[in-house]
Amino acid sequence: MIDRYQFLVPDFQSKEPKELALLSIISQSFFQPFSIEDNLLVILTALTSGSGVGFNRAMLFRTSGDKLKGEVWLGPRSAEEAKTIWEVLSTPGIGYVEIIEHNRGLLTRETDSLSQIIKPLVYSLSQENLIIPAMSAARKEMILVRNSRQEPFVDPKFLEIIGVDEFLCVPLFALDEIMGVVILDNAYTRQTIEPKDIKLASLCGLMAGNYMYTTMLHNKMIEMERLAALGEMAIFITHQLRNPLTTIGGFTDQLLNSPNDASKKRRNLEIIRKEIGRLENVLYELVHFLKVEMKKPVPFDLRPEIQAVLQSSDIKIKSEGIEVVVDIEERLPKILGDPTYFGEAIRNLLDNALEATPQGGRVTVQSRWEDQNWVIVRIQDTGKGMPPAVKEKLFSPFFSTKDKGLGLGLLFVKRVMESCGGKIEVDSEAGQGTLFRLYFKSAEEGRSDA
Ligand code: ADP
Ligand code: MG
Repeated sequence: MIDRYQFLVPDFQSKEPKELALLSIISQSFFQPFSIEDNLLVILTALTSGSGVGFNRAMLFRTSGDKLKGEVWLGPRSAEEAKTIWEVLSTPGIGYVEIIEHNRGLLTRETDSLSQIIKPLVYSLSQENLIIPAMSAARKEMILVRNSRQEPFVDPKFLEIIGVDEFLCVPLFALDEIMGVVILDNAYTRQTIEPKDIKLASLCGLMAGNYMYTTMLHNKMIEMERLAALGEMAIFITHQLRNPLTTIGGFTDQLLNSPNDASKKRRNLEIIRKEIGRLENVLYELVHFLKVEMKKPVPFDLRPEIQAVLQSSDIKIKSEGIEVVVDIEERLPKILGDPTYFGEAIRNLLDNALEATPQGGRVTVQSRWEDQNWVIVRIQDTGKGMPPAVKEKLFSPFFSTKDKGLGLGLLFVKRVMESCGGKIEVDSEAGQGTLFRLYFKSAEEGRSDA
């Protein structure tokens, strides 16, 4: 016997231990596609709300290069405001979601005067002359400051702003990377910061640091991929444009050197026209394939779209000598997507299949309503198949093993599938033929006999 559990548990029992509730809320927020700002807000909320650690205020400083900069200060601005907020927030039925909404409102309002106060604060993180709060970040140490006014290590300007005797600095870091520091205090309740508060705050700090670090790595990776793709694109475009341009240049020079030769003039102009056509074609394909708009998926019947592709003259010419089998289930429901993109995706897959298949081979287009909510289109060929090295790069932009291939066809198909909430899979082995599977969402409820 097996039992299944959901990762996301929306409500928490208030009798659950604080630590567990806190952990769950923070990890659940990381699980959602929220922005880093939103998730940091969740952490600051966890640190300040009564159902979390319960500090009165939380200040966030983030690193930028070797500097530490004031960013967000969350909490009431006065004792009166604290009283009203806490009354509202302790109303029965108000949960974490509401508290976060409330805090988001605080921070987006123009009157986010608390954050404005700390934004001008900038500290160096270099090891000489470290002062608090930067010291906590630079040394990756939690620092509890008591009797702050007697403490020579605290920056006087910072002290003037925070205005409390006792505060806690929690550094945010992961591995060797310092991401920032959170400063917590109890300005209104004047409660002493206890060892158990420090423990919980450190837990939040560790999670926040790791989360920020992962986000940073993720962004770096996207940037690197983008740059790599850009580099490949530049090489490819240069390559595609160079030949026609060289030809056009050469024939134009000839024209300039012998302007009176009428027959040569016509021939050269024709060549130049043809090469310009080639350039136009490359540009058209680049723009066309690289741009797949996220249109709202509509229900449509895939049968006529597939027929239209099969009837088109270029596919007919390519399939001479190859057996093309069409096998579409009778009671197929409509699928969700864009019919034009669908047709172009099928055309790309058929193009590839026909190009890979020798005379006497077979290409099959099959469609079935199988997996509850999915309609699957299979395009299978008995062609040359692909070795692992090709399969790996299949969907990369400009990857092609063909002389005149643009290497954008499969990338386009993948984007089309993403734009309609579907997916694409491939099975292929060198010499064994290839099978592409496209999963489309059915516009009807899942069949009961599946
Ligand atoms: P292009 O067709 O311009 O080369 P694609 O993105 O359509 O670009 O395909 C990329 C590469 O994937 C092809 O060059 C080929 O090596 C491989 N490929 C795609 N489909 C098949 C197939 N059905 N059989 C074998 N190889 C294929
Ligand atoms: Mg192709």
